[in-house]
Amino acid sequence: MLDAVSKGFKAARNRLRGKAEITPEVVDEALRDIRVALLEADVEFGVVKRFIASVREKATGEVVDTKVESKKGAMKVSPADHFVKICHDELEALMGPVDTSLTFKAKGPTGIMMVGLQGSGKTTTAGKLANKLLAEGKKPLLVAADIYRPAAVEQLKVLGQRLGVPVYHDPNARPPQMCKAAFEQARAQHRDVVILDTAGRLAIDEDMMRELEEIKAGTEPDNILLVADAMIGQDAVKTAAEFDRRLSIDGFILTKLDGDARGGAALSIKEVTGKPIKFLGMGENLDKLEEFRPEGLAGRILGFGDIVGLMQDFEKVVDEQKAQEDAEKILSGNFTLQDFVDQIRVVKKMGSLSELLEKFPLFGDLPEGVNIDDKELGRIEAMVDSMTPDERKNPSLFNDSRLNRVAKGSGRTKKDVQELLTRYNGMRTVMKQIGGNAGGLLSRLPGF
Ligand code: GDP
Repeated sequence: MLDAVSKGFKAARNRLRGKAEITPEVVDEALRDIRVALLEADVEFGVVKRFIASVREKATGEVVDTKVESKKGAMKVSPADHFVKICHDELEALMGPVDTSLTFKAKGPTGIMMVGLQGSGKTTTAGKLANKLLAEGKKPLLVAADIYRPAAVEQLKVLGQRLGVPVYHDPNARPPQMCKAAFEQARAQHRDVVILDTAGRLAIDEDMMRELEEIKAGTEPDNILLVADAMIGQDAVKTAAEFDRRLSIDGFILTKLDGDARGGAALSIKEVTGKPIKFLGMGENLDKLEEFRPEGLAGRILGFGDIVGLMQDFEKVVDEQKAQEDAEKILSGNFTLQDFVDQIRVVKKMGSLSELLEKFPLFGDLPEGVNIDDKELGRIEAMVDSMTPDERKNPSLFNDSRLNRVAKGSGRTKKDVQELLTRYNGMRTVMKQIGGNAGGLLSRLPGF
């Protein structure tokens, strides 16, 4: 995800790396990399212009006193880090402020109306939302009102069945009447949230808009959410603006951010429409819906990973107390090779590796084309299993004969073992830097 745009920010950072001072010329060079990357990522032109101007002003306007106050007192920050911090803050400002709230009625069923073009992921996302609400103790009712796309009704019924959530549909009613009747049904069956899966079209179309306006007027939904496909970049933003003009939507759900999304939609949609991104669709499965956190996406774009997101994923598969301890351990730098392997085991339970790698700060910085697949994780596990408990706790014990022994025991070469130790040391250093300097989990920038 977002590879192209990340690459631009990395190139900009590399230009500044090692420089003792940021001159306006160097800033301009770095900003050129960023501008090209943002335009390639299909970010709206006006947004790019304002973003670049704002970073330039902050990067050249402030005298870079490389001392920054943190909870642990004053510390030195390199000009490159300072520049990255400015980019991070501006990206966050561009996509924020965060507002992932949904409005719920105190009495009577709450209405959530899903709108969006055909193929945007609306039906799937209706299912994901029902899944999320179920987990929060709500009793949703899904409504199959997309009667134009063949198979949409059946698709929603299958999702409902999988979740154990009832699906309302009436083949003899027009969508506005059907949606209204669904609220009656919800009251009768004591369901407290009604999720309307409305019809989309391949493009904005007057008939569709009128029908949606009619559904809105008839049901007065508490939330109108537009589902937009992040892969289509700026077109998604144009569509969003038009839907907003007609229906006054409450927020967006951007889907397919796990795929080849170029980032344009995520970076422009809030700025262009003024409405918040509420959730991100990160896969086809029903649990792949994330609350949108601008700082997490900004971190991923800058190639620092998203530690909070990562820890939330961990929490889904390990218990919360342990996840908290793990996070503290990782960030304090007290992270043994055994922990490294334990985390790998958890990672395996978490499913898709590529998804995880994006959130992992160390792996995010791996050279292009280096992929850590399950096989490689298995090899890492075998090497750590061949170490003594002391070696796992204290890798500085490693000398030639120990390296040879582990290589032999795991069927790998000495170089493989050395590479593992380098990788582990790198990760420990980065984590320690982040954890120690941030004064908590929330800021993930080296040097801050
Ligand atoms: P609708 O026409 O808007 O109702 O779209 P669907 O819900 O049928 O989704 C269209 C396609 O996109 C389906 O193949 C979904 O599985 C897929 N899809 C939806 N959301 C996501 C997502 O977040 N990530 C990925 N990779 N695929 C998604």
